[in-house]
Amino acid sequence: MEERCLCESNEILIFSCAGSSNVGQIANQAAVRLAQQGMGRYFCLAGIGGHVSGMIESTKAGKMLVAIDGCPVGCAKKTLEHTGFTIHEYVQVTEFGIEKNHEFSLASSDVGKVAQHIESQISKRRGLL
Ligand code: SF4
Repeated sequence: MEERCLCESNEILIFSCAGSSNVGQIANQAAVRLAQQGMGRYFCLAGIGGHVSGMIESTKAGKMLVAIDGCPVGCAKKTLEHTGFTIHEYVQVTEFGIEKNHEFSLASSDVGKVAQHIESQISKRRGLL
């Protein structure tokens, strides 16, 4: 893979499936937390799925794409890949042993586990670890 400088956090684009389940919403909250921590820009997956030209162009300008899916159905991954994008860091919330359900009582600690994992992966790529 081409090595590119990742000096600017706004060159790191974070997508989440934001699905209608606990794990989809954990993915969403983890992406929000990462953006609040300055790890990257949280970007609109729906804009990619809708082929919104400005969002496609902005995504092309990103140097690192991060995707967080709730479960193995992998909607964020599929949406980005169908549009021709390469994902550099990827995780599914269910990989952390969190079972999918359709209740929305999210544990902050679960959001933290996912966000910390991605933070660590981004930091490694940026040479900060
Ligand atoms: S990846 Fe899973 S949780 Fe996320 S939108 Fe798709 S089916 Fe829903």
